[in-house]
Amino acid sequence: MSRVLSAAGVAFEAEADVLIVGAGAAGLVAALAASEAGAEVVVVERDAVPSGSTALSAGLIPAAGTRFQREAGIEDSPQLFAADIMAKAEDEPDPAIVAHLASHLGPVLDWLAVAHGLPFNVVTNFSYPGHSARRMHGLPKRTGSELIDRLREAVEARGIPILTEFRATTLFVEETGRIAGIAGTRPGGGEERIGCKALILACNGYGGHRGLVARHIPQLAEALWFGHSGNEGDAVLWGEALGAELVHMSGHQGHGSVAQPHGILISWATVMEGGFQVNVRGERFSDESHGYSEQAATVLAQPKGKAWTIFDERIAGIARQFEDFRQAEAQGAIVRAQDMAGLAAALGFTEPRLAATAAVVAALKGGEDSDRFGRDFRNAPDLEAPFCAVRVPGALFHTQGGLRIDRTGRALRPDASALPNLFACGGAAVGVSGPHASGYLSGNGLLTAVCLGEIAGREAARLTASASQTEP
Ligand SMILES: Cc1cc2nc3c(=O)[nH]c(=O)nc-3n(C[C@H](O)[C@H](O)[C@H](O)COP(=O)(O)OP(=O)(O)OC[C@H]3O[C@@H](n4cnc5c(N)ncnc54)[C@H](O)[C@@H]3O)c2cc1C
Repeated sequence: MSRVLSAAGVAFEAEADVLIVGAGAAGLVAALAASEAGAEVVVVERDAVPSGSTALSAGLIPAAGTRFQREAGIEDSPQLFAADIMAKAEDEPDPAIVAHLASHLGPVLDWLAVAHGLPFNVVTNFSYPGHSARRMHGLPKRTGSELIDRLREAVEARGIPILTEFRATTLFVEETGRIAGIAGTRPGGGEERIGCKALILACNGYGGHRGLVARHIPQLAEALWFGHSGNEGDAVLWGEALGAELVHMSGHQGHGSVAQPHGILISWATVMEGGFQVNVRGERFSDESHGYSEQAATVLAQPKGKAWTIFDERIAGIARQFEDFRQAEAQGAIVRAQDMAGLAAALGFTEPRLAATAAVVAALKGGEDSDRFGRDFRNAPDLEAPFCAVRVPGALFHTQGGLRIDRTGRALRPDASALPNLFACGGAAVGVSGPHASGYLSGNGLLTAVCLGEIAGREAARLTASASQTEP
C-alpha cells in the first residue's frame, strides 16, 4: 500500500535532514554522499538485510575515462560513453542528463574506491553489446552481493542508521508540495513516522508489481520476474499521486540468458564470444548480438517461450570468471556433449536441426555468407567440442521508466517545475534507456543507481543546508 496524505497535524517520532527510502546501491550511495555533505541521514529499508536488485546483479558499473581503465591500458572518454548510451536508446533519453551522468560516474567510482575502499577493476576480456570500449567496472567477485555488502559496510562505518524491516507506506505532503515525512510499517504491524527536510526515493521500479508490468510492458506480462521482490512500484505510485511526471514507463531491462529452471544469470559472454541461441526446433531466430535486454521478448515469442544458448568450452572458460556461471555449472545447468547431435539429444530436441544450424553459423564465421538475421559473426572463433548449452526463458530484470528528474536528481512535474524537496535515483527515477527494451545498454541500471545516488544525496544535503540557513 503506497499512499500520499496531508501533513496537516501529523506529528513525527523522529526527524532526519535527508531521509532515504530503499537501501540498494542507489540509497546507500546517496546516504554516503548526503552524510559527507554534512546532513543527518536516515535510510529505511523493508528487508531485514539490504540486498535489493543490486545484490542480484553482477555488480558491473560502466564508467569512462577512469583511472582503472587507464591502468588496464583502455582508451575511452565520457563523450564516447554518452554517444553509446544515446545510440543504443535511439536518442530517446535527455541528452543533457546522459552527458552529465557519463562524465560524472568515473569520479564517483574513484570516490567510492578512495574514500570507501571499494576495489574496482575493469572487465577486460570481453565486450558488452553497444559499448565501444571496455568500461564495465566490478569488484573482485563480480557479484552484486559483494557490491551491496561493501556499500552497507561503508554506510555503517559512517554511523548512518539503516532502519531495516521498515516498509515505507505513506508520504505526508504539505500544501506547498513539500514532503514533511513518511510513515512505515514495522514488524508486528506497528507504524512509525519520520519527518525530513528532503526525501530521496531509492526504492527502485515496479518490476515486482504484476499489474503495473501488465499495464506498461504487456509483452513481458508472462516473463520470469528476476529482480528483487521488493521492487513493487512504490516510487512511481507516490510520484503519480504527487503530480510528478512519469517518463518512458515501458522502458526496461529484459534478459534472454537466465538458466532455467535453476534461476541463475548466465553471462552474455556466452553469446558475444561466438555462441548463438536456438528454439526448441534447433533453429536460430534472431541477431542475438544486438543485446540481451530485447532478447527477453524475442525468446518469449518462441515456441513454449524458451530457447537454448549454444556455446563451447572456450567460452565457458571466459564465463567462469562470474560466480553465477560457476554455480550454474555446479548445479548442472550447463549441458555438454562432444558433437551437436549428442547435444540435441541431451537437450531433448525431437527435430534434428541443431547440427545444420551450427554448420550455418560456422560458415558465417568463415565469412561465406551474410546472416539472414543481420549478425556479424566474422570476428568470432568457431565453436569446438566439447559443446555446451543452457536453457533460458525470457526474463524481466528491472524497469527503466520512472520519475522525471533534473540534473540534481530532483523530481519534476509535467510543466518542468521541481517538487520542493523530493529526489529520485536508481530505478525509482527514469533511466537513460528510452521507452524500449532495446534501448538498454549494459550497465544502465547501476549507472543511474550509483551516479544519480551520489548526485541526489549531495544535492539533497545541499538543499537541507540552505533551508536551515534561511530558517528563523
Ligand atoms: C539479475 C540482475 C542482474 C543485473 N545486472 C546488472 C549489472 O551487472 N549492471 C547493471 O548496471 N545493472 C544490473 N542490473 C540492474 C541493477 O541491479 C538495478 O538497476 C540496480 O540494482 C537498481 O538499484 P536500486 O538501488 O535502484 O534498487 P534496488 O537495489 O532494488 O534497491 C531498492 C531497495 O528499496 C527497497 N524498498 C522498496 N520499496 C520500499 C519501501 N516501500 N520501503 C522501504 N524499502 C523499500 C527494496 O527492498 C530494495 O532493497 C541487474 C538486475 C538484475 C535483476
